[in-house]
Formats: sequence, C-alpha cells, structure tokens
Amino acid sequence: MLEAADNPLLPVYAPPDEVFTRGEGVWLFTDDERRYLDFISGIAVNALGHAHPKLVAALTEQAGKLWHLSNMFRIEGQEKLAAQYVAHTFADRVFFTNSGTEAIECALKMARRYHYANGQPERIEIIGFSGSFHGRSYAAVNASGNAGYLEGFGPPLPGYRQLPFGDHDALKAAIGSQTAAILLEPVQGEGGCRAIPEICLRELRALCDAAGALLIFDEVQCGAGRTGKLFAHQWAGIAPDIMAVAKGVGGGFPMGACLASNEAAKGMVRGVHGTTFGGNPLAMAVGFAVFEELTRPQFLEHVRDMSNQLGQSLEGLKDRHPGYVLEVRGKGLLRGLRLSADPKPVQIAARGLGLLVGVAGENVLRLAPPLIVQEAHIAKAVETLDAALSAARSA
Ligand SMILES: *Cc1c(COP(=O)(O)O)cnc(C)c1O
Repeated sequence: MLEAADNPLLPVYAPPDEVFTRGEGVWLFTDDERRYLDFISGIAVNALGHAHPKLVAALTEQAGKLWHLSNMFRIEGQEKLAAQYVAHTFADRVFFTNSGTEAIECALKMARRYHYANGQPERIEIIGFSGSFHGRSYAAVNASGNAGYLEGFGPPLPGYRQLPFGDHDALKAAIGSQTAAILLEPVQGEGGCRAIPEICLRELRALCDAAGALLIFDEVQCGAGRTGKLFAHQWAGIAPDIMAVAKGVGGGFPMGACLASNEAAKGMVRGVHGTTFGGNPLAMAVGFAVFEELTRPQFLEHVRDMSNQLGQSLEGLKDRHPGYVLEVRGKGLLRGLRLSADPKPVQIAARGLGLLVGVAGENVLRLAPPLIVQEAHIAKAVETLDAALSAARSA
C-alpha cells in the first residue's frame, strides 16, 4: 500500500490503516490474516455476509455467459427479478439502477413526471426531513438538505424543502397544491438510526392521499430484510407510491431499483429516463440470488430473532454505561447507540479489539451486521463494545 502522501485517491474519505483482503460470512480478514467481526457490512450492503457461496455461484455462472447488453435489448434477468419484486411488494413497475442515489433520482423524476402527466406541472415540491440522507447527487443532497453536503456546490435547487423531524404541524402546514411528494426513510440510517413510528408512517400516507401528493420511501438502507420484514414500511401496514432500494438488495454487487405503482409511474414513458449499466446481467444474477435467500422460509424470522437479541443486549449496555450510552435507536439489525460524546473513539477502540462498527449523525454508533449473524456473534460484539465503551470513556 502507498504512503498517505502518495495516495492519488480524492481524499474525501479517511479510512483507517487496516487493509481487508478477504471476507467470509460475518468475518473480514486483513492481508496478514487478522480477523474482524463485521458489524457494519459495508454500510448495510453485505446482507448475506461476505463470499456467500450462493452469491459467488450466481455471479461466476453469469460471468461465463453474458456481462452487459445495455437496455437497448431485453435483459432476461431484469424481467425475472422485477417479477419477484412485484410479487412481494406494493409495486407494479421496476427500474433498475447501479446505486441508491440513482434509485432516488428516478424516484424524484418520476414524482414530478406524475404531476406533469396529470396536467399539474407546477407540483414540483419535494418535502423531506432533517436528518435524512438520500445520496450525493445534486438532487439527492438537495432532497436531504444536509448543509454539510450542500456547502460550496452553488445555489440550492428549487423545489426542495426540509421540515424538522417529527413536526406534524409543520408538515400539515407545508403540504399543499405545490407538493409533488414527501420523501423519507422509514428508518433513518446516516442521520442517526432513527426509526419513524409506524403510526407516523400511516399518518403520512393519509396526508399524502388527502393532498394528492405521492409518498416516496427511501429504503436504500433499511430495506432488503434489515428490519425483519422484506421492507421496513411493511411493519406499518401501508405502502408508498414509489420506493428506492439499493445497498442490501445486491448483497455487495452494485445495484439498486426504483419501484412504483402503475399510477405513480404513469409519466415514465419511452425515452424520459434511462441508464447504461442499470440492471446489467451480472447485477441481476446476484440480485436474484439475494432475493431468493431473503424470501426463503424462516429467513426473516431469523432476522427478527437476532434483532431482539441485539436490541436487548444493547439496552444492557445502556444500563452498564449510564450517562454515556443515552439511547438505543433503530430497528431490526440497523441499530444505533446514541452517546453523550463523539462515537469515533469507541469505533476506534472496538476496531482495536477486532470489531467493526460505524458511526452516524447525532453522536450515534451504528451497527448493521450481516443478516446471517448468529447469537454467538452478537454476544461477542456486545462484549467487545462494552470493553470499547469503557476504554473510550476512560481515555
Ligand atoms: C446509502 C444511501 C443512499 C445512497 O446510496 P448510494 O448507493 O451510496 O448511492 C440513499 N439513501 C439512503 C437511505 C442511504 O442509506
């Protein structure tokens, strides 16, 4: 590896020194074979862990057949996978992308096109919430409104506004004849692992219906089985009009999708949107194998069992570190510990003890283990976190 000063990469990230060269299940290994328990999974991406035999087989088999066609031809794997999504969700239509950001772009464009198709082109406003994260394209950073991601990139785009998280009155006042859509993550990831109460999701649905606005869920991080349902909003018993997914649905192969009802998708006619790589045969082969695993009998039950164990153990950590661990947040296997101080020292201490975790907004330590995690892994991770919390606090 290069010395930092010789590294030609754009320095927008500051990774630690460890270099991982191999993964297996919930474990990552460095080049010198040191083993780490992976409780961040490439930010909720490696849903089935590393080097899952079924995914490796799906990818290598497809690699010997056909890599790329572009969407100027029919792609068998797309039609096959889209049919699965349609059968298991609210959606009638699917557009495949390479990333979560692109799925969000498609969702936002679709929402505006819907109103355009209805003869209301003035309905362009997208209402989002503080603490949200939707990706890094211009539209995505404008939709989330995070000042740190907008600064220095020119004037904000028109048609985006953010409301304070949880302020129902502000939302009722804001939604109206200009509103194209409300956009939110049923469980915020980046912003601090905050789960939106199910009752609020149902209220949002009703508000959108009353105002003729579309409801867009960003399930890029909280979808793909992470909360113990295939998609997080399914806990609330309501459905969005449009949903962006990515991260876990590809299990580590770059892929995302924008899912929609027929009605919401009605403006997306030939030529109005496109992608070269989106839905490529390699991504579709892996995406299909991931989908088969996620929908296998008992798989989501396992996720719910592990979620309960993790949630309870984290509450235990809160009791053991009063005044330091303030709150256990999140849902399923997307969990956060809100600390009274910067979580980075805990993250670093945990890594020193062989456990990889993430951080999120509002002083939150973020956990997102692979969904195949077992009881013993959770016990070990929590024990390690306990030690890391003690070490970081007394440092
Ligand atoms: C990661 C993420 C995105 C962006 O996805 P990329 O694949 O990085 O483009 C969008 N929304 C949410 C909720 C995310 O967590």
